[in-house]
Amino acid sequence: MDDFLKRLPNTGQTDIRLFAAAVSASNHGVVITDHTQPDEPIIYCNKAFESITGYTNKEIIGHNCRFLQDGDNEQEGRRRLREAIKNGEHCQVEIRNYKKNGRMIWNELMISPVKDRDGNVTNFIGIQNDITRRKEAEDALASEKQNLEERVLERTEDLQESEAYLASIIETIRESLVVLDEKMRVLSVNDHFCRFFKVAENDIRGRVLFEHNDGQWNLPELRNLLINVLPNNNPFEGFEIENEFPNIGRKLLVLNARQVTLKGKYQNRILLAIEDITEQREIEQRKEDFISIASHEMKTPLTSIKGNLQLLQRKAQQNNDTQYLSGFETASKSIARLEKLIYDLLDVSKIQSGKVELIFSKFNFQQLIIESVNGVQATTQTHKLVMKGSSDIEVTADFGRLEQVLLNLLNNAVKYSPTGKEVIVHTCILPEYVKVSITDTGVGIHERDHKRIFERFYRADQISEKFPGVGIGLYVSNEIIKEHRGTLWVESQEGKGAVFSFTIPINR
Ligand code: ADP
Repeated sequence: MDDFLKRLPNTGQTDIRLFAAAVSASNHGVVITDHTQPDEPIIYCNKAFESITGYTNKEIIGHNCRFLQDGDNEQEGRRRLREAIKNGEHCQVEIRNYKKNGRMIWNELMISPVKDRDGNVTNFIGIQNDITRRKEAEDALASEKQNLEERVLERTEDLQESEAYLASIIETIRESLVVLDEKMRVLSVNDHFCRFFKVAENDIRGRVLFEHNDGQWNLPELRNLLINVLPNNNPFEGFEIENEFPNIGRKLLVLNARQVTLKGKYQNRILLAIEDITEQREIEQRKEDFISIASHEMKTPLTSIKGNLQLLQRKAQQNNDTQYLSGFETASKSIARLEKLIYDLLDVSKIQSGKVELIFSKFNFQQLIIESVNGVQATTQTHKLVMKGSSDIEVTADFGRLEQVLLNLLNNAVKYSPTGKEVIVHTCILPEYVKVSITDTGVGIHERDHKRIFERFYRADQISEKFPGVGIGLYVSNEIIKEHRGTLWVESQEGKGAVFSFTIPINR
């Protein structure tokens, strides 16, 4: 037992001795100072104090508690302690103390004055608790919280930035945008919408789209499409409407609509995008009209030139005028090219206006292949056209139009394989269909162009300067094959030749 306890008188002091034993055994550090002596010397400390601080009883008796500060004096807790001691008051603080080995500990310290009968403070009892772990956990928590707050702040800023970014895109976009809820009420529209339809946002926001502006949007087909967007997640694209709009007149619009999905949020909203294609369509129409009129107008003088040329050619033959004959031959070839171009352009116009009419007849497919191959073979000395497979079957189709397709494909095969020698025409008879494949060993076609070469006036970039052409042969051919309810496609790699194939039904 501690010396201090031994020194306590025995008789009549049992209770005190019991309390003293309890203090000694406590897990909390207990220290007692003598307030009647100068500089508040320590007169007692228990075992727990020794193990918390690392100092032994002997080392600290008589010292002021400030040695635990180890020079770390600028602490608010310490100021409060001094104040309490000076005023003889109770006080509780959390301060940094230092163990004998120099390690910092957080000390939860409570000091209480002990007073004599006259109320004079004789001692201070200090109870201390090492709360370093708790403090560290608290600090870690605080710093984690701070981190989290910073991250939330950053994220919020990011979100605000992307929201502003998105808003600026939506506002600058040259397309009208409308957000609808599931009841087709307008939740918002962008600036372009207001400017284009000449309405104020307030006039439309909150209203059912179909009721807006005397029902200008109340078109049965559009209504049907829109109400089906959400229930079945049925987006639509490229829906054209032509309508008379109150403030802006007749317009041709193309509409796209889809469900808005933002990581599962806003699932019950529809984004409707409206593009005005009135002007674009008019320009396209004018272009089509020009091509159609120009090619028509060229046809008549060309027929006259051709007729007269043939007449002159015959005369030159009769007179055996070799000098003129070769000139006439070159002119005839040029006229044939011009004639083909004009007829192709006329075909394009016909296709555009849906006026291509096929003339079906029954014929032997082999005859078509032979005639087409011979026709192209006659124009080339560099390439050999080789027929393979079997094609001896009666088909019902448009002989003239299919010949046009074959001539296009064969001429292309020769044109785009300048160093090639052979073009293979393979025909096979399938159940209900005949298939023709034309294989060349020429420049080939990049994958990205496989679909586009069938578009009007499209020519692959890298070849357009090297080879003459206008990019309508495949477009016309494709339309002819489609009219026959067949398909035309290409398989090719750049630099490795191309295989163009088509199928058509044997019977109409
Ligand atoms: P044109 O030959 O007058 O350009 P086409 O419509 O017949 O028009 O062909 C469109 C484009 O397809 C061509 O410009 C060319 O890029 C590509 N093409 C067609 N046939 C071949 C082929 N056999 N080999 C490589 N490219 C081809």
